[in-house]
Amino acid sequence: MIGCTCAVCRSTDPRDKRLRPSIYVDVPGHAQILVDTATDLRQQALAHGVSQADAILFTHGHADHVMGLDEVRRFNVMRNAPIPCYANRPTWETLKRSFYYVFDGVPRQGGGIPRLEPHEIDGPFSVNGVRVVPVPLWHGRMPILGFRFGSCAYLTDCNALPDDAWPLLEGLDTLVLDALRYKPHTTHFTVDDAIAAAQQIGARQTFFTHMTHDISHADLSARLPAGIQLAYDGLVLDVAVDLG
Ligand SMILES: [Zn+2]
Ligand SMILES: [Zn+2]
Ligand SMILES: [Zn+2]
Repeated sequence: MIGCTCAVCRSTDPRDKRLRPSIYVDVPGHAQILVDTATDLRQQALAHGVSQADAILFTHGHADHVMGLDEVRRFNVMRNAPIPCYANRPTWETLKRSFYYVFDGVPRQGGGIPRLEPHEIDGPFSVNGVRVVPVPLWHGRMPILGFRFGSCAYLTDCNALPDDAWPLLEGLDTLVLDALRYKPHTTHFTVDDAIAAAQQIGARQTFFTHMTHDISHADLSARLPAGIQLAYDGLVLDVAVDLG
């Protein structure tokens, strides 16, 4: 956190150095899928070799998840084409306001704009044969989306799961779940909430994400129940996706 001198912000443990939440689903021979265009997208892509994107999925329109949208220009250049982008309707409305210059059709001199091929999510879909199941989540009063890819689900930014989310989360091997901090928050799971939700979902392994500087990686890791761990920037997980 800018200007903070707490133990976690001063930590030399690289797992305490956290950029904004985002994942990259790399299915060799099929698709490279980016989930969200986080504020730090450029830095993350350079650090972790994210060299192409066949599609971008948006969980919701909050700044930490979309403000890297301009970096998509580079993926456009490498593909020489617009990028299919998937989001629910409220997220598209937010993107169109926040990035008016991408959508207003007005020609602008100088730098280019991201070229997107917008798709509104209304159910499961596929990207180059990789099946994606949107999972409805509550982020405070905002309906947002998590995504399931085969045996793995990514559920960031949530503080409750609606009834229709549960059947979509059966039989998971790997779950990535929001766990913001210890103190209650109006739009995110606390660590205790996330532990309870993870145990109810029952994936073989769960990784918490979106932690603030209230959480020391080493400290909390030592106290989490079996099967639950903290994710960290650059973490790579092998998962089985659903093809076809
Ligand atoms: Zn701090
Ligand atoms: Zn959010
Ligand atoms: Zn967020």
